[in-house]
Amino acid sequence: MAATLLTCSCAPMLWAQTNSTYDAQFISWPTYNGNDLELSVDASGTHFRLWSPKAKEARVNLYDNGHTGKPFQVIPMKFDAATGTWSASVPEKLYGKFYTFQINSDGKWLAETPGVWAKAVGVNGSRAAIIDFASTDPEGWAADKGPEVKNFTDVVLYEMHHRDMSMHPSSGIANKGKFLALTEHGTLSPEGLATGIDHLKELGVTHVHILPSYDYNSVDEMNLQNNTYNWGYDPLNYNAPEGSYSTNPSAPATRVREMKEMIKALHDAGIGVVMDVVYNHTAENDNSNFELTAPGYYHRHWDDGRYSDASGCGNETASDLAQMRDYIVNSTKYWADEYHIDGFRFDLMAIHDTETMNQVAAELKKINPSIFVYGEGWTAGDSPLQPERRALKENVSKMENIAVFSDDIRDAVKGHYTNADDRGFATGKPGNEETVKIGIVAATPHPQVDFKKGNNSKFAYAMSPEMIVNYVSCHDDLTLTDKLRRSMAGEPEENMLEAAKLAQTIVFTSQGTPFMFAGEEVFRDKKGVHNSYKSPDSINAIDWSQKAKYHDLFDYYKGLIELRKSHPAFRMTTAADIAKHLKFDKIDSKKTPNLISYSLTNHANGDEWDEIKVILNGASEARTVDVKKGDWMIVAADGKISPAGDLGTTKGGKMTIPAYSALILARK
Ligand code: CA
Repeated sequence: MAATLLTCSCAPMLWAQTNSTYDAQFISWPTYNGNDLELSVDASGTHFRLWSPKAKEARVNLYDNGHTGKPFQVIPMKFDAATGTWSASVPEKLYGKFYTFQINSDGKWLAETPGVWAKAVGVNGSRAAIIDFASTDPEGWAADKGPEVKNFTDVVLYEMHHRDMSMHPSSGIANKGKFLALTEHGTLSPEGLATGIDHLKELGVTHVHILPSYDYNSVDEMNLQNNTYNWGYDPLNYNAPEGSYSTNPSAPATRVREMKEMIKALHDAGIGVVMDVVYNHTAENDNSNFELTAPGYYHRHWDDGRYSDASGCGNETASDLAQMRDYIVNSTKYWADEYHIDGFRFDLMAIHDTETMNQVAAELKKINPSIFVYGEGWTAGDSPLQPERRALKENVSKMENIAVFSDDIRDAVKGHYTNADDRGFATGKPGNEETVKIGIVAATPHPQVDFKKGNNSKFAYAMSPEMIVNYVSCHDDLTLTDKLRRSMAGEPEENMLEAAKLAQTIVFTSQGTPFMFAGEEVFRDKKGVHNSYKSPDSINAIDWSQKAKYHDLFDYYKGLIELRKSHPAFRMTTAADIAKHLKFDKIDSKKTPNLISYSLTNHANGDEWDEIKVILNGASEARTVDVKKGDWMIVAADGKISPAGDLGTTKGGKMTIPAYSALILARK
C-alpha cells in the first residue's frame, strides 16, 4: 500500500510497549453505536446525528449543490451528553440535497466536513449527498449473491485496479477505467482473445480483489480528462464509492449504482468481490473528516500529542478506542449489506488491534459466512499500540477467522522485495528451501519443517491454512515479470517464463489461499517501476495484446487454477491434515539446493487421487530425482500442465526435471 513511501515491510521491530498517556484521555468519552449516525431519512423527515462529545456547538449546512454555492439553510444541533451526539431534523425528505457538518471546538469553528459516515457524496467528496438508496439498485439486486465459500482455501484471489484492467486500447472495453468496465461482456483484444470479465471467467479465479474503491483524495474528479492515476490508498470518505470510477462523479447516485452494477455482473459470472480497505490512516491529518468531527479521538498520538504514524502516511487511526472500533466494524458491515461485498483486504492490518479484527470477522460472518477477511500482518512504522495487541502476522493465531499474507513465501520464491536483483528459490538462489516449505505448509506446525531456518518468520505462526494467503507479487513492488527481468538479466526470456510458471506453481499448489496480481498471467510488466501508485496508465495499464503473445503462459495459469479447484488435496482445511498428509522427500539442500519434493498422500482432503507428487526445481540446471515406482499420470512437466493428468504416464524411477520447472505426478 501507501502513497507516500515504499512499504511492504514485514518484520516488526522492537517497538513501543504501551499506549500513549495522551490517548488515555479518550477512553472515557461517551460512545454511540446506533445505525443512524449522521444521516437517516424516514417518513418523518431527514435526521442528522453527529458524534462529537467535546464540541461546544455543532450545526448542519444544507446545500442544493455538491460543491458550489452557499447553504440554503444552516441548522443548529442539540447535544445529548449521554451519547456524545448532536442532532437536528427537518420534516422533509431532502433527497437530492447536500450537507456538511461544522463544529465549534474550544471556541473556534472548524472547517466544514461531510462527516465520517457520508454514504453518498458530491464531486470530490467535500459535501455529503442525500439520496434514496433504493433507487441505486440494479435490476435483480435483491436476489444478488456472491459465490458461496465453504473453506477460504477454496478461494483464488485476483488483485486488480480498475484502470489497469481496462485503460489500454487493447482491452476493447468501452467504459475504460470505470466500474462499468467489468460489466461488459464479449470484449476482445486486437488478436480476438477475451478481455475484462470474460477473461476473468476464462482464467477461473473465484474472487477479484479490487484496489481501494471507496472515495479517495488524490484524483481530481472535476478534471477526469487529465487521466490522473492513483492506487487510492489515501482515504477520504470510507463509505462512498470513488467518483473517478463512475461515469459522472457529480451525480451522487451514479457511482453507487455503477459500483453495484459491477458487483452484480461479477456475481452473475460466479465471481466474488473483495474490497481493499484502508481504515488504518486518513489522507489528511487535521483536515481529515475524523479530526473535523471529533478532534483528537480517531487518531493515535505519542505522549506529547503528536500524531503517531505507523502507516508511514502521516498518521494512524485508533481502532483500540470504542468509537473507532465500532466505526470499522459498522463500515465493513455496511459494505457487505448495501453492496454485497464478499471479502475485505485490510491494508496495514497490524495498525488495528486483534480485538477489532475479531469483531469485524464475527459480525461479517453473521451477514454472510462466505465473507473472507485477510490483511497485511504488518505496519509501516512504530505505533503506540502494544505489539501483542497488533493484528500482526505473528499474532494471526489470536484471530481465528482472519488470514494474513505470507511474505515468507513471497520473498523466498522470487527474491527479496527490497533488492530488485536478488534471486529466490525459483530463480536459482540457494538457501530459501526451508522458507518455501513454510509457505507450502501454510506456516502451520509440521514435523518436517524447521521454522528456525525461516528467512522471515521463525515459528509456525498459523494454526490453520485458512489463516494464510500465499503470493509472489501484488500491486506493491516489481511485478513478477519485472522482478524476473531484473534478477535474471542476461538470460533468455524463455527462462523467465519458465521461472514465472514455477513461481506460480509453488503458490497454487501450496496449502493456504492463493493470490495473484492482475495481468501476470499475460506476463504483464510495469516497465520496471516498483512503486507505481501514481504512475501514468502507460506504466500501469495491462496490454492485452500480450495475451496472444504469451498464450502459453496464460494457459499454464489457467491450468494451475483448474488443477487446484478440481483437487481438494491442495486445499486442506486443518493444520492436522497437512501434518498428516503432506510428506516431504528427504533432500539435502546443502548438496542439492533449489530442489523440493513432496507428496500429498492418502487421498488428502478427500481427493480422488491417492497420491500427488510435487517436485519443484528452482535451479538453473536440470535435476534428477528418484521417484517411487508406480503407475503415475503426468500432471505437469517442462512448463506444460494438464489438470486431468493426461500429459502421459510414467512408472517412476529416475526422472529429470529441467531448470526452473515443476514436475507434478499423480497416482489413483
Ligand atoms: Ca475521490
